[in-house]
Amino acid sequence: MMNRYNRQEQVLGSSAQKRIEEAAVLVAGAGALGSAAAETLVRAGIRKLILIDRDHVELSNLQRQQLYTEADAEAALPKVEAAARRLYDIRSDVEIETTVGELTPSFLKEHRDIDLAVDAFDNREARRLLNDAAQKYGFPWVYGAVSGTIGMAAPILAGGQPCYRCLEQAVPGPEESCDTAGVVSPAVQWTSAIQTAAALRILGGSEDVTPVLQWMDVFTGRTKAMDLKRLAAEDCPACGSRPDYPALQENMPSVRMLCGRRTVQIQPDRRIPFSRVKGKGMDIPWRENEFVLQLYPEGCRMVVFRDGRVLVHEAPDESEALRLYEQYVGLMV
Ligand SMILES: [Zn+2]
Repeated sequence: MMNRYNRQEQVLGSSAQKRIEEAAVLVAGAGALGSAAAETLVRAGIRKLILIDRDHVELSNLQRQQLYTEADAEAALPKVEAAARRLYDIRSDVEIETTVGELTPSFLKEHRDIDLAVDAFDNREARRLLNDAAQKYGFPWVYGAVSGTIGMAAPILAGGQPCYRCLEQAVPGPEESCDTAGVVSPAVQWTSAIQTAAALRILGGSEDVTPVLQWMDVFTGRTKAMDLKRLAAEDCPACGSRPDYPALQENMPSVRMLCGRRTVQIQPDRRIPFSRVKGKGMDIPWRENEFVLQLYPEGCRMVVFRDGRVLVHEAPDESEALRLYEQYVGLMV
């Protein structure tokens, strides 16, 4: 009797197929690239999928996020939940672990034994975090970014190979644009094809995967490829000779301007007890309910959530938001 992976096994070989069927893979982000990668890898037979994303499904996602339906958007299901339901329909014997939230250093430390990660983020800061964890804990990952009609993808390997920090120094990527920028689905599908092809080769144990960045404009058909080896920087803080993995440093909150909203999100890797927030002891207006603490310093509005996340509205830029955060949301001792 033919098994369900017969056609794939003819290409990869039985030992590679067996390795894939034992693999645990983190898909970081469950938007367009994340749903495409998750579906391909679950169909390919991976043992366990770990999926993390903080958003819920919206109607505007359906044009390119292949796992979701109108019913998911109607119910505003968390993406990881909607994705898991669809993926179990596709393959009932896969193991899926879902997390609704942001990627954090502690999440990555907890999952450091994964065989591979797929980057399906829309921002550089999250990629740096994934990158530093991958270099520190020694797991491979596959970078991917899409904007407009252009896609880019590259495997980032552990152990002395150039990393994402080296790459972003050299290549201004389409990921500069935020998630409100336009994108066509074929650019997602091309990028995901390159990412998941690399993933299957790495998981299958192929030893000749090389760090090459592939680029394509799916409308013109123009392609580029760049060997990343020459980008390796001796002084890189993640893959260089004396790494300190900056994105993994404790107490370094992640800071990110949200697209088109004049709002900066600050995410420390810890919870914030409202009772100890400095701003409450200062002469500025504040309000609090069971979910959020709001502070109104210097013409801005800061919203503090129980999990530690802070939104700074009307902040001119990220560094000013971080200053306000340290001054008003820092903890009283
Ligand atoms: Zn590097």
